[in-house]
Amino acid sequence: MLRVEHIGVAVKSLENSNNLFSKLFGEDHYKEESVEGEQVRTSFFKIGETKIELLESTGPDSAIGKFIEKRGEGIHHIAYEVSNIVSEVERLKNEGFIILNEEPKKGADNKLVCFLHPKSTNGILVELCQEINASFD
Ligand code: ZN
Repeated sequence: MLRVEHIGVAVKSLENSNNLFSKLFGEDHYKEESVEGEQVRTSFFKIGETKIELLESTGPDSAIGKFIEKRGEGIHHIAYEVSNIVSEVERLKNEGFIILNEEPKKGADNKLVCFLHPKSTNGILVELCQEINASFD
């Protein structure tokens, strides 16, 4: 793995949290993006090398909506950048981690993403991500 690419934070209201995090960081978010397949609206802040991804649910069945219902707002996942998501998933599978989607899917911010089940990672939902335009070997 290359680095912590971003930390995902589940929020009830993107507007309210955009305001809050702008004040916290002293800098505005740099983009908003919807991921239709995930029923989620996202907002990104950049802090040095790491990003903060705010996630707001847009549908009753979204993972973020369910997460907030169960646990309230807060850290939802940690995303690690990898250079080859396919081989990294293979490696982690062989190490015994539970992969939620072995087929990488398109996430926000031009990324291919795979998730690891929190019960295999000490309660932390882990996202692996790879820039879509980066080389795939
Ligand atoms: Zn993420």
